[in-house]
Amino acid sequence: MYQIRNLEIHASYSCNLSCKSCSHFSDQQIGKNVPLEEIASQMMQWSGRIQPKMFSILGGEPALNKQLVQIVRECRKQWPFSKLRLISNGFYLKNHPELPLALQQAECDLEVSVHHGGEEYTEKLKPVRELLAQWSSRYNFVLKYRPSASKWRTTFEGSGSEMVPFNDGNPEESYKVCVAKNCPQIHEGKIWKCPQLAYLGMVDIKHQLSEEWQKYLSYRPLYPTCSDAELQQFFETKAEPACAMCPSCHRHFEIPSPLRI
Ligand code: SF4
Ligand code: SF4
Repeated sequence: MYQIRNLEIHASYSCNLSCKSCSHFSDQQIGKNVPLEEIASQMMQWSGRIQPKMFSILGGEPALNKQLVQIVRECRKQWPFSKLRLISNGFYLKNHPELPLALQQAECDLEVSVHHGGEEYTEKLKPVRELLAQWSSRYNFVLKYRPSASKWRTTFEGSGSEMVPFNDGNPEESYKVCVAKNCPQIHEGKIWKCPQLAYLGMVDIKHQLSEEWQKYLSYRPLYPTCSDAELQQFFETKAEPACAMCPSCHRHFEIPSPLRI
């Protein structure tokens, strides 16, 4: 088994929030939920070869997927030795009353990302915090809040068909400052270096990206038919030419409220 730090899978490409410059492109309406069967069969191609220390279920917003409880159970089944975590913005967890028991039984942490510090957002999050306080008092699972809005940064400019890469021309430097370097994704049965490379093709299908993106769209992920040597090489490669699409220094900005009107 080849050991890696973290491996991630989407339970949904869709999101109830719209965070400007979402690194998973979930604010770009690129797709919907991923059916349980599809998640299970994608993971099955890798779970006999890779041992991630952490396995992360996310999106998009995973709680938009009605099969979330079964997905949590399936992930534990396929990654019995990994630390398991579910990352959610919290607002739709109320639709999954069986989730706290599943989290307890699967020993899955729940990490709630907080995407804005404004009054309206904070007020809307109150019932979520109350519900999770109740769940926590009755079930045994780890609950954490992540201050995701602080130090918000972008890895591209514009939106939809107007999106443009940074093209800073210094992939080593872009990789050095990259916060997604330990976030490989299982997507369409393959493993992708990071969310940006994994879901860029879906943005292109939805918005027909400009010519500037073509060299990044031709990035080749790791296929399940790869040899052990190819697998090892994939995970040991740090910067690669595609990293040139990302900025070579952090481009922080204050995120506008991601609440949809
Ligand atoms: S909540 Fe997360 S997935 Fe949804 S738009 Fe914001 S950053 Fe993206
Ligand atoms: S392309 Fe490279 S620098 Fe950009 S997010 Fe992916 S790993 Fe990071």
